[in-house]
Amino acid sequence: MTDNASGGERADRSVPLPPASLRLTVDRGALDSNWRALDALSGSAKAGAAVKADAYGLGAATCVPVLRDAGCETFFVAHWSEVAGVIAHVPPQQVAVLHGVLNEAECAYARAVGAVPVINSLEQAERWSASGGRRCHLMVDTGINRLGIAASEANDAAIAALDIDILMSHLASADEADSAMNPRQLAAFRGVLGAIPHRRASLANSAGIALGADYAFNLTRPGLALYGGVPRPELAAAIRPVAQVQAAILQTRALAAGESVGYNATFTAPAPMRVATVSMGYADGFLRARGPGNDFSHHGRRLPILGKVSMDMVVIDLTAAHDLAAGDWVDVPWNIGDAAQQTGLSPYEMLTVIGGRLRRG
Ligand SMILES: *Cc1c(COP(=O)(O)O)cnc(C)c1O
Repeated sequence: MTDNASGGERADRSVPLPPASLRLTVDRGALDSNWRALDALSGSAKAGAAVKADAYGLGAATCVPVLRDAGCETFFVAHWSEVAGVIAHVPPQQVAVLHGVLNEAECAYARAVGAVPVINSLEQAERWSASGGRRCHLMVDTGINRLGIAASEANDAAIAALDIDILMSHLASADEADSAMNPRQLAAFRGVLGAIPHRRASLANSAGIALGADYAFNLTRPGLALYGGVPRPELAAAIRPVAQVQAAILQTRALAAGESVGYNATFTAPAPMRVATVSMGYADGFLRARGPGNDFSHHGRRLPILGKVSMDMVVIDLTAAHDLAAGDWVDVPWNIGDAAQQTGLSPYEMLTVIGGRLRRG
């Protein structure tokens, strides 16, 4: 390759990437505090951590070391593609892969890296044993009907052949205070514990921790609450917000009455007004589905969204903050505990849609 094949100069890589025009701040102290609080609320059980989906959008590279240093020793991801980012920080035996082993290639990868599959079916159990066995975890379905063997399969020879560390099940309605699902799933889970040899038993997710000691067993598996979500009011006092999102103003402009903003001109200025174009779009996870209650802000001053959110930009009203200019930072509405901001989205979605540009920012 020549330097000038397209008339350009070779890139000078000694100049660092300039700071991004958007940023996600993860409060490591709050994350540490949340894990410790959930671990304490788990009673005699130890808390693990669900770090799937890049730690619910906040970045495994940021969150896993904090959780490890807080004392967490069991980490859950969904896909094998997520393992490398976690075992960069913790021993591979501490990483559980919830989707299990779908084929021989996944068995070979599991064996090579040392992360531990969560076996979900008799077929997966046979596949894992045929590939050489070794320690695994087992999911038993007790009513959510997503992944896991049926309780009636507990005595199958394929299960007896496994070397099971964590025997787990997952609650469907732990965030509903009086759901009959919870005691029913608890009873079903207790029913299989005696039938399947295992080292540790695990049932509760974040909301399940609030259901009390009966649900804790040996290991709890919080996700959402680690990252500042409050799935049940009992957890509110213990959980601190973790994520804050800010974006820079790229440009300000003066609109005349009658001028419109954005794709399809869905906002028209009723009078002359000052607006700002901000570096935040749906590619960053700021989805169009966010409805009313999603004003940007600057030191408490509210800056409503005007028109449609674009892929990389959104336009906001500067009526309350005429002093702001290009380069100034504004707060992006990303309070996952604020019901108004959740219009059409759950707190889980608000976190996991956070875009890759924010995690690199
Ligand atoms: C995602 C997940 C969790 C964590 O659930 P939260 O509601 O986020 O606390 C726990 N267990 C399993 C099996 C999961 O898939």
